[in-house]
Amino acid sequence: MLNPTGAPAVAEIQTIEDARQSAQKETAPAWMDELRTLIASGQIHEDFDSRVTHSRDRLPFGRFRSRSEQLTGTLPSVVVEPKSIPEVQQVVRLAGRENISVIPYGSGSGVLGGTVPFAGEMILSCRHMNTIQVIDETNRIARADAGTNGLVLENTLREKGYTCGHYPQSLSMSTVGGWAACRGAGQASSRYGNIENLIVGMKVVLPDGELLEVRHAPRRSVGPSILEMFIGSEGVLGVIVEVTLRIWRLPEQEIDTVMAFPDLEHGLAAIRDIMQAELRPALARLYDEAESIKWGLEAPPGGVIPVITMLSFAGLYGVAEAEAEAAMKICEAHGGKISDREPMTQWQAKRFESHSDAFVDAGGYYETIEVAAPWSTVGAMYEQMKAAVNERHPVVQLSAHWSHAYSDGSCMYLTCKIPAMADDEALPIHADVWEIIMRICLDTGGTISHHHGIGCFRNRWIAEELNHGHRVLEGLKRALDPALLFNAGKLGLKAEN
Ligand SMILES: Cc1cc2nc3c(=O)[nH]c(=O)nc-3n(C[C@H](O)[C@H](O)[C@H](O)COP(=O)(O)OP(=O)(O)OC[C@H]3O[C@@H](n4cnc5c(N)ncnc54)[C@H](O)[C@@H]3O)c2cc1C
Repeated sequence: MLNPTGAPAVAEIQTIEDARQSAQKETAPAWMDELRTLIASGQIHEDFDSRVTHSRDRLPFGRFRSRSEQLTGTLPSVVVEPKSIPEVQQVVRLAGRENISVIPYGSGSGVLGGTVPFAGEMILSCRHMNTIQVIDETNRIARADAGTNGLVLENTLREKGYTCGHYPQSLSMSTVGGWAACRGAGQASSRYGNIENLIVGMKVVLPDGELLEVRHAPRRSVGPSILEMFIGSEGVLGVIVEVTLRIWRLPEQEIDTVMAFPDLEHGLAAIRDIMQAELRPALARLYDEAESIKWGLEAPPGGVIPVITMLSFAGLYGVAEAEAEAAMKICEAHGGKISDREPMTQWQAKRFESHSDAFVDAGGYYETIEVAAPWSTVGAMYEQMKAAVNERHPVVQLSAHWSHAYSDGSCMYLTCKIPAMADDEALPIHADVWEIIMRICLDTGGTISHHHGIGCFRNRWIAEELNHGHRVLEGLKRALDPALLFNAGKLGLKAEN
């Protein structure tokens, strides 16, 4: 069987039943006794079910395997859930002494296999570190433990009239530590920024057990940004234990509009001009024809099925209105027409739900791949990807929408659906679609990930994307974690010395 995980030491395919039988014959490692002296027994899970649950995240390939009762990699040896920073430090120091490999874990909502163990690693879950410590209204920041659930943070802020401004679709399934570790983006990124614009302080337990603190500052010019080194570190440089984020007043007014454009080119040009006019939409999403159809709008008489754009402006009364008005004019100049609001209502109702579950449960193969590219290439890049995928795999339905817009380019979010068929037939197609999309992206000046990160599934392409930057990352990894104990084999880094 093809190994598309890109992981360096992928275990043989193992069925969950085989893993159960092996687990029954295991003897606990010698360090387990010491672990029990550090952490209360209720925070240590050695049972088979906990280990299976933590053996995969939301990586689609892992979901396909799991549907066939197979593991993606291995079982973790144990799941440990410290409750405080000193407990994390003690566990990390034990790991260093005993040469135990560790995978930091938030909620397992990652979609690139970032928390998948490949060599029986210990899962260090931040689940019980979930206190919102400070909401500082004067400085408009909030400080929260890394394991704080995104929706809990947002709801707590809303009760006081604030918002965190970071709304990943996985808001209720993810943690603030996971947001930082994956360098995520929320649906309102064009207004509030991505996670790197929102995080202004952090505490990290380094692989040697020391606590690094990047104190909150509105900005600093003190050498390269240490904070940024950990944003996107995906668990390979230690455990993020606390995050400080900017927060925002809830908007006084929100204005939503749905616009229809004759084609993609006009829609993309409108979004580009909105961003280049320095407007800050809270939402700017453009769907290709295939994805526009699903909203169920009627085509105009004699016209083509329109391409749909959802726009939203938020902020002070007057300001939001003025921005919306200016955006409308730009849309109209590109042939845009105000359309029925229904798609926005439907989207809002399901904006924090997973859309793949029904398709996967029915036996299909559902994948999403997000990339980013400059405006000059992003439209042509999609046409090239679609043509190549259609030619090689006519059975695949490839569609896209554009979200997270900037003055210089946009994120392009591709959805790939393969109908129900046998794994042996579908998985090589799935792997080849990845190959086609990543290849065209790299060859046409795009970046291989906008916000999902690398995990293990993008291992094959990271060195080409970062060129000498990957050597810099490797150096940082070896300086902080010379024994390569932290999330080995992710971010394209070597798993063994
Ligand atoms: C339906 C769905 C929709 C999604 N939508 C979005 C979206 O809109 N925007 C977006 O950005 N992402 C999205 N994602 C991806 C995912 O939810 C994010 O990457 C999220 O930030 C992961 O958080 P988590 O707490 O679940 O992390 P996990 O999945 O537990 O971990 C992800 C990675 O981060 C590392 N990690 C986690 N916590 C820590 C920590 N405390 N210290 C060090 N390393 C850590 C792990 O080792 C792993 O490498 C979506 C996922 C799903 C399933």
